[in-house]
Amino acid sequence: MSGTALYDRVALVGIGLIGSSIARALRRDKLARHVACWSRRPETRETTRRLDFCDSVHDALADAVRDADLVILCAPLGANAELAAAMAPHLKKGATISDVGSVKQAVIRDVGPHVPEGVHFVPGHPVAGTEHSGPDSGFAELFERRWCILTPPPGTDQDAVARLTRLWQAMGSKVEIMDAKHHDRVLAITSHLPHLIAYTIVGTVTDLEDHLKREAADAGTIIDRAEIVKFSAGGFRDFTRIAASDPIMWRDIFLNNRESVLEMLGRLSEDLAALQRAIRWGEGDKLEAWFRRTRVIRRGIIDAGQAGTFAATEPEKP
Ligand code: NAP
Repeated sequence: MSGTALYDRVALVGIGLIGSSIARALRRDKLARHVACWSRRPETRETTRRLDFCDSVHDALADAVRDADLVILCAPLGANAELAAAMAPHLKKGATISDVGSVKQAVIRDVGPHVPEGVHFVPGHPVAGTEHSGPDSGFAELFERRWCILTPPPGTDQDAVARLTRLWQAMGSKVEIMDAKHHDRVLAITSHLPHLIAYTIVGTVTDLEDHLKREAADAGTIIDRAEIVKFSAGGFRDFTRIAASDPIMWRDIFLNNRESVLEMLGRLSEDLAALQRAIRWGEGDKLEAWFRRTRVIRRGIIDAGQAGTFAATEPEKP
């Protein structure tokens, strides 16, 4: 890690898993001379003060962003427009606004109109995370060896992009510059759809459990919740971890990446129907060929160093 300050003052707006992880990484490697934090609720600000991973915690958003060279929005996507409008009058000329949102066209739509003249706007998405939320769940190593995708709109100041790139690299990330629309399609299939499937499967099992309970009551036998948990092999267990991710954040992701998610969902439904047919007609060769192909993809992910763990649980990548 560099140890050289890349910005004088960085303001983090929203101090949850991602905001607090950035603060911790900035402090550990002295990447900013001052890290200012703001969060909406007094409880979160109090926890942030107690955890002591930044230089100042502000009750007023204006005080946090004033004089900042870099402001990073780290709240759920649905909060961005209001936050950008509220902080705009307090930003200094030459500052950069960025964010960490998991959908990029929506951020450009919501934040773009509020960016004042003379302020740069470089949207970003660290493809790193866990299913945990809040300032106590963050850790400085979260971004190491993970991708951070920057989606600067056409005409963005190249020095601002280069400086932010250096910051993410100093926090351990590999940086890729991408068009926002392309980002949203890629993430729809690699992250958003898998989360939708996890939420669906865990919901289906819960419904099934209720149904089994009713049947058992009718038959005079008892099936309790522990049984489903007890016999959860790796597959279902992994789904429950993903399905424990923050409901507000995921609500906002699906609402804001609607087109791409629906497109990928359509493709998935077709493939599911094909597999369903192969099972019904006993077409083992088709199933085996499909599973062999997907195994190769998993090996590719391992070879690319994207299957590792840093936290107690394997990081997810919204
Ligand atoms: P988090 O741990 O739940 O923290 C969310 C933060 O946003 C909290 O500080 C919360 O403040 C604040 N907030 C919530 N609603 C708000 C509102 N309406 N107005 C203002 N502030 C609000 O979330 P996170 O996991 O850090 O995620 C934050 C962003 O990172 C999201 O946009 C998400 O798409 C993106 N992201 C997440 C991950 C991940 O794995 N979690 C990975 C990559 C990117 P209070 O506590 O004060 O209410």
